Amino acid sequence: MTGPDPVRPGIVAAEGLMPKPKRKKVPPKPAPVDKDAGKVVWIKCRGRAGCEGQQSTLVWRKRSEGGGFNARYKCLTCGSAFHINT
Ligand SMILES: [Zn+2]
Repeated sequence: MTGPDPVRPGIVAAEGLMPKPKRKKVPPKPAPVDKDAGKVVWIKCRGRAGCEGQQSTLVWRKRSEGGGFNARYKCLTCGSAFHINT
């Protein structure tokens, strides 16, 4: 008769699951809130060909590597979003 092994793999596995001291997760830095986000700006729609929208909402904007801005806008007229790099 072969009884269960005194050192059962299950126990070892359970020890491996012992709660470890949790490292504090560093929350990702929130993107800097652009004070202009949500503003309606006079930017001609580039999201859809033929759209004559002249105003768009700034969705977000961030510095691009070239020193300009990479911005996302949403056209108020047709609702399509588009990027502008400056
Ligand atoms: Zn549009």
